[in-house]
Amino acid sequence: MRKYCLLLMIVFIVISATSVIAGQPNLPPSPPERTFSLPPQASEVASGVYYLGTSYDKEKPVEGYALIHYKPGYAKPTNPAKPSKDPSCYTYLAKGAKWRILEPYIVDLTYSNEIAPIIASSIQKWEVAAGKDILGENSAGTIDGADMENPDNKNEVMFGGIEDKNVIAVTIVWGTFSAPVPSRELVEWDQVYNTDYDWSFRGEPDTTEMDFDNIATHELGHSVGMGDLYTSACSEQTMYGYAATGETKKRSLESGDIFGIKSLYK
Ligand SMILES: [Zn+2]
Repeated sequence: MRKYCLLLMIVFIVISATSVIAGQPNLPPSPPERTFSLPPQASEVASGVYYLGTSYDKEKPVEGYALIHYKPGYAKPTNPAKPSKDPSCYTYLAKGAKWRILEPYIVDLTYSNEIAPIIASSIQKWEVAAGKDILGENSAGTIDGADMENPDNKNEVMFGGIEDKNVIAVTIVWGTFSAPVPSRELVEWDQVYNTDYDWSFRGEPDTTEMDFDNIATHELGHSVGMGDLYTSACSEQTMYGYAATGETKKRSLESGDIFGIKSLYK
């Protein structure tokens, strides 16, 4: 019996050690100052949607939202979307809130080789579906963190620590969400992907890995104005609000995603 316990313990230690290695993926560490946590004034207004308050973008009053993605079992739907009508499953951050000019974005240089091509191709999926360019090009610049108090005129994609370990990724979007619908626009987006996960950047992910293309295509949906879906009838859509390790079905846009983005940018 004792021998058996010892054996079990050895197995346990080996498993722990393996998972520690697996938890420190093929990524260099992010700067220690880049740990994401919501500011105290953030208030949850819908499932995973936090209102950040008001600020200014080029002297225009704007509002910010953080869209937070928890791993399964940790999301707390407080205001689940109503079942969508035909023809499709889709929601918007706010009706009519979209990009009206092309703005470049910056990808964290530390991870650029892994993520820049995926971010570019994921943006392209939304633009092809919309039938027009929505976001600008990847450009050089310095990443200085996700902007939760005031927009800083930079659209930034980064990896970072996230205080809540159950959060996979966060997208922050600033825009004129309360303006009259015809003049609503998006003015800034930032994304943080949690370095605590083991990310997969090519091929098929292991069951323990978070597929970057899968998550980024969803997050970029927020960057272009799409909202989360939480009804099981919409579970096959890229904008479905839950994601899991090993999942790749959000890499491709589905009927609701396509209809929604096309309608927003028509
Ligand atoms: Zn989302």
